[in-house]
Amino acid sequence: MTSPQNVACTDSKCAVHGHLKVRGNVFVGRIVSAKAARTAVIERTQTIYIPKYERYKKVRVRQAVHNPECMNAKENDIVRVGETRKISKTKAFAVLEVLGSAKEIEREDEVRHRRERAKESMRQSQKDAEMQKAGDHT
Ligand SMILES: [Zn+2]
Repeated sequence: MTSPQNVACTDSKCAVHGHLKVRGNVFVGRIVSAKAARTAVIERTQTIYIPKYERYKKVRVRQAVHNPECMNAKENDIVRVGETRKISKTKAFAVLEVLGSAKEIEREDEVRHRRERAKESMRQSQKDAEMQKAGDHT
C-alpha cells in the first residue's frame, strides 16, 4: 500500500529516487484524475477567511502534481504531495507517498470515531455515577 515500491525508478523528477528537491508546502489531497502520463490532479479543501462576514469558507483546490511511475497513484488515492521547483507549465508539486485509497481511510476514520465516542460515553457515565455518590453523602 505504501510507496515507494521496489521498482527500478528511472524518473529524474522523482522526489524519492531522482534529483528533485522538495521544499515549501506539503499538502494531503485526493487524486481526482490520473489519466495523463506521470501526472495526477489532486483535490483538497482549504478554508479561506472572509473578513466582511467574519467567517471561513471552504474552497476546493485542484492542482496538477507529478506522479512518478514508482508511486503509481490511482484515482481516489489519498496522497501527500510536496512543493518543488516548477516541473512543467502546471506542475510544481510531486507525490511523496500514497497514504491509501480514500474509501479505506474513510472506513478507518469511522471506526476510530466510533471507538472514541464509546470511550467518551463511558467516561461520562462514570462521572455521572461519581456525582451521584457525592450527592448521597450530603
Ligand atoms: Zn521513484
